[in-house]
This record gives sequence, structure tokens and C-alpha cells, in this order.
Amino acid sequence: MQDLARQRCFNHSGREAVAICLDCNNLFCRECITEHEDRVICANCLSGLKADETKKNRGAFLRPLLRTSLFLGSLLFLWLSFFYLGQFLLEMPSSFHEGTLWQNLLQTI
Ligand SMILES: [Zn+2]
Ligand SMILES: [Zn+2]
Repeated sequence: MQDLARQRCFNHSGREAVAICLDCNNLFCRECITEHEDRVICANCLSGLKADETKKNRGAFLRPLLRTSLFLGSLLFLWLSFFYLGQFLLEMPSSFHEGTLWQNLLQTI
């Protein structure tokens, strides 16, 4: 029992350990241990969890960004296709726009 009472914090050799981290199974003092989502966890593991969460959040942030860029890309593609269609129409002889070209074609048939 004396050995158990002498258990020291993983981070502070001068402090008495009060809890075991459920993640890394190391002993920690009251200052080093915290509760996260009803789990007793040490500061190291908590920062690890938070890094994971920020990674997840970054991914969640990127997804709509990707969707937006895809949307903008398709919009740009549409705009360009209309632009070139307009240019194509402008390059065509004016008789086409007047409808006389079709009339001529109909006459030849
Ligand atoms: Zn831990
Ligand atoms: Zn400590």
C-alpha cells in the first residue's frame, strides 16, 4: 500500500498522482488530469484529441469550399461556352441571323 501512495504524476515527479489517464494509462496529478466528454484524460491526450478535432473541422470546412469552387468552375465553364457561342454567332454571316440563309437553303431543297 505504501508503494501505491507513493505513485507520482507522470509530468511532476514531486506531486502525488490522483488519477490514471484512460488513454495512455499513465498516472497524473490533479493539475494534469482533466475530464473530456465524461472521460478522465491527461492534458497530453486531450491536446491530441483536440488536434484530431481541428483536423476534422478543417476537413468539414474544406468540403463546402470544394463544392463552391466546383460550382464556380462550372459557372465559369458555362460563361466561357456562352462567350464562345456568342463569338461563333458573331463570326457567322449576318444573313444567317436575318434568316435569309435558311430561306436560301429551303429554296435549294
Ligand atoms: Zn493520457
Ligand atoms: Zn502533474
